[in-house]
Amino acid sequence: MPHPNDPKLKSFVAVDPDSDFPIQNLPYGVFSSADGGARRVGVAIGDFVLDLAALDEAGLFKECVPRGVFANAALNPFMALGPDVWRAARVRISELLRHDNAELRDDTGLRNKALIRRNSVRLHLPFTVAGYTDFYSSREHATNVGIMFRGKDNALQPNWTHIPIGYNGRASTVVVSGTPFHRPCGQLKAPDAERPSFGPSRKLDFELEMGVVVGTPSAMGTRIGERDAADMIFGFTLLNDWSARDIQAWEYVPLGPFQAKAFATSIGPWVVASEALAPFRVPGPVQDPEPLPYLRQSEAGNYDIHLEVALRTAAAEKPAVIARTNFRHMYWSSVQQLVHHASSGCAMNVGDLLGSGTISGPTPDSFGSLLELSWNGTRPIALPNGERRTFFEDGDTLTIRGWCQGEGYRVGFGEVAGTILPART
Ligand code: MN
Repeated sequence: MPHPNDPKLKSFVAVDPDSDFPIQNLPYGVFSSADGGARRVGVAIGDFVLDLAALDEAGLFKECVPRGVFANAALNPFMALGPDVWRAARVRISELLRHDNAELRDDTGLRNKALIRRNSVRLHLPFTVAGYTDFYSSREHATNVGIMFRGKDNALQPNWTHIPIGYNGRASTVVVSGTPFHRPCGQLKAPDAERPSFGPSRKLDFELEMGVVVGTPSAMGTRIGERDAADMIFGFTLLNDWSARDIQAWEYVPLGPFQAKAFATSIGPWVVASEALAPFRVPGPVQDPEPLPYLRQSEAGNYDIHLEVALRTAAAEKPAVIARTNFRHMYWSSVQQLVHHASSGCAMNVGDLLGSGTISGPTPDSFGSLLELSWNGTRPIALPNGERRTFFEDGDTLTIRGWCQGEGYRVGFGEVAGTILPART
């Protein structure tokens, strides 16, 4: 049996070389028919969604997955089964989609039922978000923000190279790509203002991040090691950690962001399995000083994921790319973040979401936020249609895309998009 990651595999479903969803990917999502109907688990293949619940009903998973687990509105019951089942299911889905396997290919009735055009379905939040934690693990991003908020000499706090810095965010406002949200209101205080006021944020921003989806739990009071953490990570998705910089600047001392990031976090509809990303693992930057023993990694912990950010204003005919970077630049890996998260005995749950932290590269066109791209509003970004932006205006849509580039194929994440509606005042 060939490995599902084998670059030579071909599906009987036609897939363009620049599609995000070849047979080597098989990302999981939750969908329903555009005209309603029950939510269920599917995988993306080319321009289609493969309905796993329909295949299960036809008895095609009876060797590897408990009956009914894909007839759910969330991936959580499937994720809870653990990495052996994830691997077996992926092997079976790959096998069913192969060009040389007749089981599904030649069963016209089942094929018509289970392969649904992607542009005719509704994609939903792929899992129930148990908890949301956001990290701050790009050295370039932390340095840029530190320079703007505290000056060059105190840019990186002394703890930063020792701890994957994070804060507990809100799971309640994690939404799937395409969900619009209102510009948040909050307490604002300009540096020269005597007192704070309450009103719509004027410095609404995005944060380009990857989301880690925790698939299996850890018990309260236990620590986990590198191997455990790697096994617990079900997969990755695109994540936009929308941020209100003016609210943040006033509130963040001393406990970190609160309302500045609590109003919306967007994630992609597709969760790419950790296993599908394995061919694209790369070593992260050299960590100096060496991390404490519990945070040391023996395996390459980063991923070569190309990332692209595009902005479309209400007046623009098409989106304009405003940044390009790569996930490989991150200083702290997802495994290190998860190990650290549980290091006090904090219990991790099925469906916990960890934001990687804003992914900024080394050059000004690779920054993962408007805060950095416009250098806190001092260098407006010129858009192709003549408009300029420092921070978002109402009606703006931001779209993040991400993909790993293989030889002649891509393992992609699709996109995460969101549109800003006017504040509710
Ligand atoms: Mn963030």
